[in-house]
Amino acid sequence: MKTLAITVCAGAMSLLLAATSAPEPGFEGTWSLDGRRSTALPPGMEQRMTITEDGGSLQVKTFIVTDFGDRTQEDRYVFDEAGHDVQNPGLGAGKRTARLTGRHAFTSIDRLTGPNGETTIERAWSMTDDERELTIELTSSGFAGRTQTRRVFVRGESVAPPPPSASRLFPVDLSIPIAPSPFRQGGKVQLVYELVLRNFRAGDIEWKRLEVLDDAGRTLEAFEGAALAANLSRPGTPPSLEQPQRIGGGMVAVAYLWIEVDGPAPHALRHRASFSLPSASTGRERIVESQPTPIGAPCVAVGPPARGRGWVARWISNTSFHRRGLFPVDGQAQIAQRFAIDWNRYDDAGVEQRGDESDNATYSVYGQDVIAVADATVAKVIDGVVQNSPPNIAPGVGLDPDKALGNSVVLELPGKLFATYAHLQPGSIPVKAGQQVHRGQVVGRVGNSGNATGPHLHFHLATGPGLQGEGVPYVIDSFERIGAERPEGDKPAWQPEPRPTPLRAELPVEHAVVAFD
Ligand SMILES: [Zn+2]
Repeated sequence: MKTLAITVCAGAMSLLLAATSAPEPGFEGTWSLDGRRSTALPPGMEQRMTITEDGGSLQVKTFIVTDFGDRTQEDRYVFDEAGHDVQNPGLGAGKRTARLTGRHAFTSIDRLTGPNGETTIERAWSMTDDERELTIELTSSGFAGRTQTRRVFVRGESVAPPPPSASRLFPVDLSIPIAPSPFRQGGKVQLVYELVLRNFRAGDIEWKRLEVLDDAGRTLEAFEGAALAANLSRPGTPPSLEQPQRIGGGMVAVAYLWIEVDGPAPHALRHRASFSLPSASTGRERIVESQPTPIGAPCVAVGPPARGRGWVARWISNTSFHRRGLFPVDGQAQIAQRFAIDWNRYDDAGVEQRGDESDNATYSVYGQDVIAVADATVAKVIDGVVQNSPPNIAPGVGLDPDKALGNSVVLELPGKLFATYAHLQPGSIPVKAGQQVHRGQVVGRVGNSGNATGPHLHFHLATGPGLQGEGVPYVIDSFERIGAERPEGDKPAWQPEPRPTPLRAELPVEHAVVAFD
């Protein structure tokens, strides 16, 4: 009898303790969500909780990662069945009551009022007897209806990641502002365009891989790691940005693509992009597959912008400052110089410049005639800009969108295309705005004015004059490749090829030395 009385008494003591203090310390520690055994989770959800016991309450620090954002949350459960203040982002504020229901279990009710009305969240926590697994059954009812989820947690920092998978709702916007018009260069079809990514996620993403596919699903080119980073620009970030592939919420990345195609141009392009979430512990990748984008119309063919031989094409490549010259003009971001070429010239002895380098007249390109590439209307003429003395640029001309072109001529070609000739000699332009010109007609002489460090002809075609509009590709209908310069060293040099190569309807490759007639 006596023994039994003691046992009953001990049992009563134990119940009393449980009812007035925190549950067993077994809740303490770090817990990770097991997504495969949980239900009704948002896409890509990972959750980690750190629980500490604090007298008659639990402190819960939660870090949640989903495809849509990162979130931290701090919660407190006080087991005295009184109402305690609680806040829920998005749902509002109110009171929480919590009650122990067993050695490894408790329930709580949040009654919240927010801009959309009232919401009640009920939670039932239970832990297995071995204290290795924790389940939260959550019921939410209110303006958004009634939802039920089960979240199963295991003790520890992480669980094994699920395999990569396509994620149709992953919050990135992939757009192609201008579909590429195919053109021929170096004997192959080229597709040159930008793929713009906007991060709609409330948190960082890391761009891991980009595949460019044709309409038949064939991979044309794939980029990852350093190769992908080298093709990205990040408007609105400091130039010192070290990880261009890591893209913050609301930020933009521009991929500069220059795809060389074996065989004919495809009808459309598709993109498959892979991402990871730097905040997630599992490293799991998300794959986004875009809808096909039809490629643009074939490019135009024009005549050469100058006469004679020894002309060398510079700054026409995927890394050129022309190609990557994406900046807003009059409130619109565009790349007018996307396909610009800076033309210099070697004389018949193979020399580009001799004598005093600060004297424009010592450059063999200086004073060469530049000519209309097609029958056209003169759209704009700028004259009277003072010339530079190499390598210095005259004060004040570099950053003014008109003066940067120096003395210049813009021709309007059929189809609302504009051909811009920049950096000409002052007083060398024999045409006036509104005048008709014929292909081959002289429209000025090569000089060194505007944003130029030495005499050369800057020529490009775009949908607008000068630095306005979008640069469009073009081909020169007939010219000869007579060699190629080696760009190394202070003074580039070139060797004539044994036999000139006639080219039809191509854009010259960078460093090609050509003869126009
Ligand atoms: Zn240029």
